[in-house]
Amino acid sequence: MNDNEVRELIIIGGGPAGYTAALYSARANLRPLVIEGFQWGGQLMITSDVENYPGFADGIIGPQLMGEFRRQAERFGAEFVADDVTRVDFSERPFRVYVGDDEYRAESVVVATGATARQLGLDSERALHGRGVTYCAVCDAAFYRDKEVVVVGGGDSAMEEAVFLTKFASKVTVVHRRDEFRASQIMLDRARQNGKIEFLTPFVVEEALGSDEGKLTGVRLRDVETDEVRDLPVDGLFVAIGHDPTTALFVDQLDHDGDGYLVTQPGSTATNVEGVFAAGDVVDHVYRQAVTAAGMGCMAALDAERWLAVREGHAATALAAPRS
Ligand code: NAP
Repeated sequence: MNDNEVRELIIIGGGPAGYTAALYSARANLRPLVIEGFQWGGQLMITSDVENYPGFADGIIGPQLMGEFRRQAERFGAEFVADDVTRVDFSERPFRVYVGDDEYRAESVVVATGATARQLGLDSERALHGRGVTYCAVCDAAFYRDKEVVVVGGGDSAMEEAVFLTKFASKVTVVHRRDEFRASQIMLDRARQNGKIEFLTPFVVEEALGSDEGKLTGVRLRDVETDEVRDLPVDGLFVAIGHDPTTALFVDQLDHDGDGYLVTQPGSTATNVEGVFAAGDVVDHVYRQAVTAAGMGCMAALDAERWLAVREGHAATALAAPRS
């Protein structure tokens, strides 16, 4: 399908940032097209209970929350393509966004393609995801009160998650594949000084062990130097080995940092290409929360609305949008 219309706004990505940008821009009558991805919904689609999204005092299931985000944007006229963008051309306006052979054109674009937590790559890890295997301590730590857990990784995320987990868990074992750590000294010291944290190095997780009911019961560890294998009974396996931003389609056209995260202008969602904005985890490798992504999605919609209004010579009509 070719969309003959030149849209005012295309949003690439269907997570909290993309859907919030869709909601705000739809309510501003920009009739956004959201190319949300084949697996729309983002990281919350693989999360069970979300207890830290404000407004849901009793918590909400991740996929349900994303369904509500989407429905709310749809209610105000956002349109959706549930497929993956395969190519973009931001070299001239209107910008071109491709889904296979289908071409979509727009005067402005919001990139909100998110990031994914790196996985260990074990079949058993996939099978027990959400049943003891998790990628977010901030989200899931409270489910492990008085339980023993493992954190895998040797970077700042692993140290931060290990320390955070000690607020709930009775014991946290940090498993890292080398004796040296990538984490900053201060974060490492903080973890080492915490009486509830133990370190096991150089070890790798060979297998996530599950019960007949499909819940994690422990991890099989291998000593990298001796090849000795041992099982450690735990209730939680927190994988904290970094994230990868979904930016392969953009890195030849948009400014990005050494890890591939898109770079926006300070205090704004504007990228180096005028009319292209970026929001959510594709930009943010610090906070990475659904609520912060949603906030940035709102900012991107307001930035795009303002930018379009200025170009069209009616800046004053974009009342809610920030002044330049
Ligand atoms: P990271 O610095 O890339 O560390 C990833 C860790 O996971 C490394 O120790 C790595 O081991 C290990 N790892 C990677 N793949 C693995 C695998 N397949 N199996 C086992 N281990 C594996 O990632 P991060 O900790 O998420 O930090 C990302 C960035 O955010 C960093 O710049 C960090 O400083 C920053 N950050 C800052 C804070 C803070 O200041 N509060 C908190 C979190 C993150 P090797 O070392 O052997 O490669």
